[in-house]
Amino acid sequence: MGNSASALEPSAVDLLIVHTIIVTMDADRRVITDGALAVSADRIVAVGKTTELQTIYQARETIDGSRFVLTPGLVNAHIHVTGEPLTRGYAPDDISFKELIGVWLARAHKASGEDDERLGAQFSALEMLRTGTTCFLDAGTNHHIDAVADGMLSMGIRGRIAQFARDNPGSPSATPVDPLLRQMEAHLDRYPPGPDKRIAAWPILSGRHNISDALWQGAKHLADTRGLGMSFHMSPIPSDPEWFIEHHGRRPVEHLAELGVLGRNVALTHAVHVDANEVALLAQAHATVIHCPMTALRGAYGATSVGLFPEMVQQGVNLALGSDGSNDSNAHDLHRACFLVAGLFKDARQDPTIFPAGEAYAMATLNGARALLMEDEIGAIVPGRKADFVLHDTWRPEWRPLFDVANQLVWSADGRGVHSVWVDGVRVIDNFHPTMVDEERLLAQVQEAGDAIVARMDLPSRAKWPVV
Ligand SMILES: [Zn+2]
Repeated sequence: MGNSASALEPSAVDLLIVHTIIVTMDADRRVITDGALAVSADRIVAVGKTTELQTIYQARETIDGSRFVLTPGLVNAHIHVTGEPLTRGYAPDDISFKELIGVWLARAHKASGEDDERLGAQFSALEMLRTGTTCFLDAGTNHHIDAVADGMLSMGIRGRIAQFARDNPGSPSATPVDPLLRQMEAHLDRYPPGPDKRIAAWPILSGRHNISDALWQGAKHLADTRGLGMSFHMSPIPSDPEWFIEHHGRRPVEHLAELGVLGRNVALTHAVHVDANEVALLAQAHATVIHCPMTALRGAYGATSVGLFPEMVQQGVNLALGSDGSNDSNAHDLHRACFLVAGLFKDARQDPTIFPAGEAYAMATLNGARALLMEDEIGAIVPGRKADFVLHDTWRPEWRPLFDVANQLVWSADGRGVHSVWVDGVRVIDNFHPTMVDEERLLAQVQEAGDAIVARMDLPSRAKWPVV
């Protein structure tokens, strides 16, 4: 009675999705049935029951979500967006790590030009978006950062990128540190983060044993002073700890701790061959480890036989997931990584309580958001956060019957059911296809450019089956 008429008038929003199942990944991990999501511009305005939100909001567009499950967009915390996407699967899967990196991938990168890098970025973004990933952290192995930024922006995806930086200390190809740091700084100036910036640059190093102390510390200083994160590869195979012990008398993470190159804003990719003390140091620093289970399997890293990923999580390391390169894991549907992380350690330790489906899914959402220092912006369906979300079509064999949505998302469903995707409130995938690019044309360009790169690599195909 005391309410004024205006208080009862519905508020205007841009989009209302109604009658859907919402996986919020909020603090209570609520799953809302007959749920509704209200979006205005680039932000989530409200999440709740359909009956509730329909009385409060008047939407410019309303979508009936009754055949969908709505989830946060996934965060792929490690992906190589150039060099490998256009040569996917050309490298054999039965060669040593050294041969894969030093011969096949080195040539793939060398044979890729600026236009190839732009196309690789677009193609990576297409595969991620089509399978429900809305944000990525680049591995930093690009040679043309402007082309990569341009390609990513054209697809509407969110991410953090970098240009290749390593100085190879003590080797014939050693390069001075200062120009590298100045170049990195210029990229950070050119692509600063901000609420309206989907793509920004970070100080990302290729890592491992190819980085001098001065470059480690210089990059960390840039990250700290600018409020950015820092990422790098470390210890996928035993040769990294062996090299650090030989040259520094201590293991890699111990050396980085000593240099001051650990912290909440630091994310190490792989970290398979780390010992208990290194895990403790990572936990103390509140660092992130990015596990790439598909790469670990294909590369025979030993993730399940020697990896301490369950121990990292127990001790408080933020464990996020990545898909790595297109000749390392060969696929960028992050649901595959979720499935693997949920299962690998159950089997290896003969303990079904390790990484239940809900925890595995959190690694691909909340933990990924935290790895990218965007935990207040993305990773959950919560009012105030960015409108980055996915509609999964549940009228598909892998989605039915539907009882436990976490089990469904991790154990049976995958990116094939991703029907629509929004980033920043913009619908970038609609009815399984991208809205911002001609998909068939892009795929044709990818095959053409891939054929040309493979020809320039000058490494005969080692495909096992005779092609007649
Ligand atoms: Zn990588």
